[in-house]
Amino acid sequence: MLKVLKFGGTSVGTIDSLRNVKNIVESLESPAIVVVSALGGLTDRLIATAKSASEGKEDYVDEMKIIRKRHYDIIEALIPDDRRDGVLSIVNSLLDMLEERYKGLTLIRILPERTLAEVVSFGERMSSVIVAGMLENATHHDSLGIIKTEKWFNRNIADRALTDSLIREEFKLPLMRHAVAGGFISTDKDTGEITNLGRGGSDYTAALIAAALDADLLEIWTDVDGFLTADPRVIGDAAIIPEMSFIESMELCSFGAKVIYPPTIYPVFHKNIPIKILNTFNPAAPGTYISDNVPDKGKPRGVSSLNNTSMITMCGPLTSNVAEINSRAYNAMARNGISVFLVAQPSVEKSFSIAMPQMDGEKALKQLRLEFSPEIQNGELTAIDKTDDLSVIAVVGEGIKQVKKLGPDIVKELQGASVDVKAISDGASDTTIAVVVSSAKVKEGLTLIHSLCFPK
Ligand code: ADP
Ligand code: ASP
Ligand code: MG
Repeated sequence: MLKVLKFGGTSVGTIDSLRNVKNIVESLESPAIVVVSALGGLTDRLIATAKSASEGKEDYVDEMKIIRKRHYDIIEALIPDDRRDGVLSIVNSLLDMLEERYKGLTLIRILPERTLAEVVSFGERMSSVIVAGMLENATHHDSLGIIKTEKWFNRNIADRALTDSLIREEFKLPLMRHAVAGGFISTDKDTGEITNLGRGGSDYTAALIAAALDADLLEIWTDVDGFLTADPRVIGDAAIIPEMSFIESMELCSFGAKVIYPPTIYPVFHKNIPIKILNTFNPAAPGTYISDNVPDKGKPRGVSSLNNTSMITMCGPLTSNVAEINSRAYNAMARNGISVFLVAQPSVEKSFSIAMPQMDGEKALKQLRLEFSPEIQNGELTAIDKTDDLSVIAVVGEGIKQVKKLGPDIVKELQGASVDVKAISDGASDTTIAVVVSSAKVKEGLTLIHSLCFPK
């Protein structure tokens, strides 16, 4: 049985939580691959300090003292005597390099993207060396040499074919000892520059490794008892979902459920490798099992929400030709690397709306105005306008179409509580019903929808 276990920031954040990690890994029956995030909260601080250093401020000096102490304390407490000096010397040289980068930033006073990527990489480079040193019988593997990215518009995306073959070369099966690697970090396949897979990307590293090695199971160890029916920070009485399908988890995560980084699911889904969500702080809890099985089809499985959304609404006679407007709008977005969350039927008649991340909103508006400029001129479209500061609330469950009147009931519930529904996508997918509301009302909306779907 080959398992890939990923431990997130909180799981590797403190001496106590790292002790839990050690117990979990050392009680496994066979050697496993362990992927770790940076110490909890460190990535945010590395970024904030890089920004302030690039403004010429010297607070990196004090911040480095804190970062050093945090890593030294952990090494002191958890690494056995015979391995401590080795780990300390690697971590020390990484800390020195980090401090050098900060110093450099105070001098050049700009923050190039590649320098920021290098700065954040130190988090996982250090935590992975520490975890490998902490475990009995483990080897360390440098993700910078294994996970390769390529440029796609202004993003770095994994080069799957190259990464798969490098993973297979690096982790020779059957494993003889536990193998530890840092999540999140990567290098560009052409330039060799340090890159990363995006915030929260350690989950994705673990999934890439699991898929390349045809592992039997991917375990995501985090700080909650499993995938819940809603974000527990918003809905206090959200319940654990014991089992769900890949598609359901994919939909919930792409609509904002932070528990798994969205790109993670596809590679393991493709190989039919189940995922378990487990709690490092409560390892006895059964967690959530995600596989191709759909238990209890035709019921809402969970709700989630996504903020920072823009919606572009087009009005005019052309909007009644749904097939044409749909394909032209989608193609215009795809050509520009803009991912569209949903196509919605807005409350305004004779109109058509699409929603996208707010950061892409301006670009999307420009492209749509360009695409449809002939129709704007001949009057087939009368307006193309954008609204910002919106949120999408998604209700997810395979076969949800079978739930009678769920879409209209959601709208009724929200309108009854004065949560204005700007648009709804109901019926386009058999898995998700999504409504667009103003971000100021998202918490209220989520609470109402959660109680409607999961009555107590
Ligand atoms: P890690 O550092 O382990 O990667 P994350 O903070 O990325 O952890 O993800 C776990 C967090 O996701 C939980 O603490 C919880 O607050 C949040 N979360 C949001 N939506 C959900 C959900 N539906 N189920 C469980 N957790 C959720
Ligand atoms: N350390 C990275 C982050 O905070 C990656 C991860 O934790 O998954 O985004
Ligand atoms: Mg995470």
